[in-house]
Amino acid sequence: MDTRLSEAQMMIQDSAREVSLLELSTRAHDTDSMGMFPWEAFRALGDAEFTGVLLPKEYGGSDADLLSFVLVVEELAKGCANTALVYATHVAAARGIQQGGSPELKQEILPLLASGKRLAAWAATEPNSGSNVTAVETTAKLDGDSYAVNGSKIFITSAEEAHYYVTAVRTGPGAAGVSALLIDKEAEGLDTGRRFLRLGMNGTSSGELLFNNCQVKKRNLLGTEGGYAPLGMSMAGVAMLGVSAIALGLSQASLDLCLKYGQERKIGGQPLGNYQGVQFLVSEMSVAVEAMRSLVYWSALKQQEAAPGLPIAAYQAKLFSTETALKVIDKAIQLHGGTGYTRELPLERYYRDARGLTLHFTPTEPLKEVMGKALMGLLP
Ligand SMILES: Cc1cc2nc3c(=O)[nH]c(=O)nc-3n(C[C@H](O)[C@H](O)[C@H](O)COP(=O)(O)OP(=O)(O)OC[C@H]3O[C@@H](n4cnc5c(N)ncnc54)[C@H](O)[C@@H]3O)c2cc1C
Repeated sequence: MDTRLSEAQMMIQDSAREVSLLELSTRAHDTDSMGMFPWEAFRALGDAEFTGVLLPKEYGGSDADLLSFVLVVEELAKGCANTALVYATHVAAARGIQQGGSPELKQEILPLLASGKRLAAWAATEPNSGSNVTAVETTAKLDGDSYAVNGSKIFITSAEEAHYYVTAVRTGPGAAGVSALLIDKEAEGLDTGRRFLRLGMNGTSSGELLFNNCQVKKRNLLGTEGGYAPLGMSMAGVAMLGVSAIALGLSQASLDLCLKYGQERKIGGQPLGNYQGVQFLVSEMSVAVEAMRSLVYWSALKQQEAAPGLPIAAYQAKLFSTETALKVIDKAIQLHGGTGYTRELPLERYYRDARGLTLHFTPTEPLKEVMGKALMGLLP
């Protein structure tokens, strides 16, 4: 697959590999064990010009394609999946602002996001609507020049750290009544609520946003009233690719550890890798990783062509990579024996981080439902 990458894509991949090694992997353990938000790593991503990877050059972005974005996230995830998730969410939210913001809003906000000076988040999930964004209950009522927003969001990545939230709100009844608002962290009437302790992805707040008559200027409406669906679809495309690439990066990193361990670890006077059972394990892992890579890269190429719609490959890649990563990392832990279960190695962190990926940005079950309906020709 690598041989089909363009010169520009290989350059960005090399650069991401270096940043991941120097800036992310060195901090990943503390980020996870101390629950520290990876600000230094995020700033390094800004310095390397990754934070504006998909944004047009006029806003300080790199105007790179989706496959380049995937290559960056894959490399970052090998160093620190938590940072890769914060990053992928930021890039997805920035895309929503790029696609729906007025020229003035874009000129004001996007250069800050492209440079990494400001962080963006995506606030869709609510306690009562869960994965179904068409059922959101947070309301936004226009009064003069501002919307009054009331309601709450839950499980938002970077809830406490982000400067801006692309937020799904209800401006009218039904699925066609959902809109997107760009909400500033400093907006009057906005508070962060509970922060949840999680199994993995511990270096970012997973928190609530509480809107109590929160005042948001009308100019912060992204797209039109009731126009969340096309924006959400576009952001979901980027986010699903991001999550797929994290699953891929974690799986490749797990396989790499196994190959090293198989050569170095001696049992009964011979390297572990000499045992056929171990050879079977790494063979199965390598097939899974390459299948994942092919599907994820393919999905990026298909999505690039399909814009603004979402090809079925986007769903296929998300489903396959996130479910398969859990199996690959599990095998890697098995191959490392007791050591694999300890915090001496990053494998247990990989596993905990990967576990969230089948839930986030459309969980496995609704994902299968959408795909199944698309395959059956049941979607409008
Ligand atoms: C690591 C992580 C980061 C996250 N970051 C963000 C973020 O930045 N922004 C944000 O908005 N949200 C975020 N979330 C929330 C995430 O998007 C939601 O957890 C997810 O959408 C599921 O919603 P829910 O938790 O309410 O589960 P529910 O929607 O209540 O689902 C519960 C169970 O029911 C299943 N289910 C749901 N619908 C169907 C169906 N139609 N058929 C069959 N089964 C179904 C689900 O698969 C799941 O197993 C994050 C979650 C995680 C784990």
